[in-house]
Amino acid sequence: MGFLKGFVHEIFLSVQGEGLFVGEVHAFVRMGGCPLRCRYCDTPEGLTPRRQGKILFPEMTTKLFSNPVTVEFVKDAVKSLTEHAPFSRMCITGGEPTYQKEFLKGLVALADAPVVLETAGVYPSVLKEISDANVHVSLDVKFPRSSGIRNGWDIFQEALINVSSSSLSVKAVVSGQEEPEEVKRAAELTARIHGEQVPFFIQPVEKIPYDLLMSFYRIACEHLTHVRVIPQVHKCLDLP
Ligand code: SF4
Repeated sequence: MGFLKGFVHEIFLSVQGEGLFVGEVHAFVRMGGCPLRCRYCDTPEGLTPRRQGKILFPEMTTKLFSNPVTVEFVKDAVKSLTEHAPFSRMCITGGEPTYQKEFLKGLVALADAPVVLETAGVYPSVLKEISDANVHVSLDVKFPRSSGIRNGWDIFQEALINVSSSSLSVKAVVSGQEEPEEVKRAAELTARIHGEQVPFFIQPVEKIPYDLLMSFYRIACEHLTHVRVIPQVHKCLDLP
């Protein structure tokens, strides 16, 4: 594993602000690089691999490092964060983590804590290979209308088919430009491929009309039993 190297932008502790584990403190590993360009992307700095990364400590001190780094380097950096606060999981996020396939697999294999993988499923074959029971896959659906990703449905469907992890949740970022039919399609696909029990999170990227949000919720509930509406909580608290 030691020879595996990859581009990491940030390693830090924070409150998980999205999805199934919202409110838990996680150790985040933000990987660099993403082939998509969503209109609402909140991590534009993560889109291309960078030569320099940083470890951010809760005291707001930082330690810089040069990329690419080894899997062991990341493992040690994450371990060092335990001195600052306990955390329940390591969240691998991006960018798009599947962009660096082998490095991601190395990180998962060496992880000391349960892993949450936040992904848009851009490289579905990678998801198939990460079938570790230790990994929860938090899969984004990219609605073509609001994300600007034309083949968003193809990516989502293929990713769903390829997720073999027994632990899966789906996140639908909504900006208010979506039609309820699009949320219906996402919920339907999820239920058809993985069953109605998959947790499904509607995540407004900004304030959207009450009636529209309720229609998204209602239509998702027609197909799935665990539907929640949660904005990005860490943003509300001004956390990284
Ligand atoms: S997939 Fe994620 S990181 Fe990539 S452009 Fe979209 S929001 Fe940004």
